[in-house]
Amino acid sequence: MSKFTPILPGKTIGLLGGGQLGRMLAMEGKRMGYRVVCLDPTPESPCGQVCDEQIIGSFEDLDSARKLAEQSDVLIYETENINAQVVAELEKEHWVPQSSQILSYFQDRREEKTRLHEAGFPVVPHRIAEKAEEIPAFIEEIGCPCILKTAFGGYDGKGQWVIRQKEQWEKIREELKAGPWVLEKRVELTTELSVIVARTPDGRKRSFPAAENIHQHQILRASIVPPRIDPTIVAEAQDIAERITEHFQVVGLLAVEFFLVGKTLYVNEMAPRPHNSGHYTWEACYTSQFEQLIRAVCGLPLGPVDLSFPVVMINILGEDYEGLEKLIPHLPEEVKIHIYGKKEMAWRRKVGHLTIKTDKPEQVLSLLEEKLGWDS
Ligand code: ADP
Ligand code: MG
Repeated sequence: MSKFTPILPGKTIGLLGGGQLGRMLAMEGKRMGYRVVCLDPTPESPCGQVCDEQIIGSFEDLDSARKLAEQSDVLIYETENINAQVVAELEKEHWVPQSSQILSYFQDRREEKTRLHEAGFPVVPHRIAEKAEEIPAFIEEIGCPCILKTAFGGYDGKGQWVIRQKEQWEKIREELKAGPWVLEKRVELTTELSVIVARTPDGRKRSFPAAENIHQHQILRASIVPPRIDPTIVAEAQDIAERITEHFQVVGLLAVEFFLVGKTLYVNEMAPRPHNSGHYTWEACYTSQFEQLIRAVCGLPLGPVDLSFPVVMINILGEDYEGLEKLIPHLPEEVKIHIYGKKEMAWRRKVGHLTIKTDKPEQVLSLLEEKLGWDS
């Protein structure tokens, strides 16, 4: 399929990965009239429950990926934790607009940081360690507190160690598995922001309204839109995110996470796919991030992304679910519930989210502290 031939409803979208992002992509794709097939190792995955067909298999495995590709008109990956070589093989014969090259850049924190830095985008001071033995010297250079992050496969704070004193190193050393790693300065956050940009194969771009993000234990807990900070800083983040998308020639979506320290923005990390902090777009923007990705890769016009109302998105983690379930019949009428259909309500794993139309985010957050025992 050529990138210049629009892929119309009735055609098949193949999703590499069947998690919640795939599920929401499939729901939007189905609404638009596409056939959606996913590949995921877990039977009845969150996406498998709502799409036309799930191929059960690892997206690390070329044969399974080929089975998906053979029946797809366009392939979309919904996670970076897939083998870039598998994607490189697929793109020889199939339309994989997000590209294996972008995947290989953004699944490796070393590449991500280095390429951003070399292109002149602001990143926090960091060092790249190929071997564990190099780390103690880098801790000295960067200074404490710092954070050690595995280059591959980390998410929701997994694969990260906060180093407050250099004496902690011996203990952390015992826990470390394979490298490489990035060691970075732990900055005093004023707040965190993210911007999601959509870009088409022919270079049209549109960015969603920025979100203010609140993390606990390095996991996103809440996104507040619009952010409660100086709009000129928000505009600067938007501009940086768009320039990064252009710089890397991303096709599909690019989510850019920022740290705000005082009035200075740093790019934290990026993801070339839908992003948790963009879930609010489902209800609060005319076009959701999921629809926008489908539009971008299928060669359709990008949709309007205006914010319809102020909003707060709250993540539901496995440990929240029991408490939340009891509250569902009593939730205020503005609360929209998304539950991902995961078989296990595992601790510190995202199992759903709530979107709440509100111009009083503080009230929502303090209610959650009270009702769900949040420890913010
Ligand atoms: P993940 O892939 O798990 O999202 P991140 O690098 O985005 O990894 O880290 C998760 C969260 O941990 C960040 O959103 C932020 O709250 C905190 N964090 C990570 N790196 C730093 C840092 N250098 N300084 C301060 N906080 C950090
Ligand atoms: Mg992150």
